[in-house]
Amino acid sequence: MLVNAPALTAETTGGAEAAAPLAGSGARSLLLNASMEPLCIVSLRRAVVLVMTGKATVLESDGRLLHAEHVVVPLPVVLCLTRYVHVPVRRPVPPTRRTVLQRDNHRCAYCGGGADTVDHVHPRSRGGRHEWTNVVAACVRCNHRKADRLLPEIGWELPFVPRAPRWSVAFGTTSVRAEPLWSQYVVA
Ligand SMILES: [Zn+2]
Repeated sequence: MLVNAPALTAETTGGAEAAAPLAGSGARSLLLNASMEPLCIVSLRRAVVLVMTGKATVLESDGRLLHAEHVVVPLPVVLCLTRYVHVPVRRPVPPTRRTVLQRDNHRCAYCGGGADTVDHVHPRSRGGRHEWTNVVAACVRCNHRKADRLLPEIGWELPFVPRAPRWSVAFGTTSVRAEPLWSQYVVA
């Protein structure tokens, strides 16, 4: 199904700089379904193949142009499939230490410092459930101070309402944060 991977070079739209080879640069593109929902992250090479074969169109580019064989395409930062593909329902990601820390960007929900533990907002010892809406990332100190108390009992508040991540944690929130052009398409 893949056509031969094209040799890619890029230049800025200004055109002053020499074309630079992009192979192995690690550049990646966000691929959206035709419905505009994020599907996955693909390599730049794969993205260009999708565009060249008419399977996807470029929605966001960083301004550089890619010369691939005999065509020039804007460097795809975000691209969208031209035809909708049915995606089986993603299995929900369970809240684990890793996924909760990832959702909360390793920030303590209570003090904003670096977090490496998970706190049950409504303590499990008092009937709180282990589910996305009841877990937050917390630093050891806050987790220890809070212990098995409820937030109103100690006058603490959550700065956000915990919820399940809307998209697979496998995407990696860090990669989305690293690419600002992706953020409007992917809600972390
Ligand atoms: Zn803390």
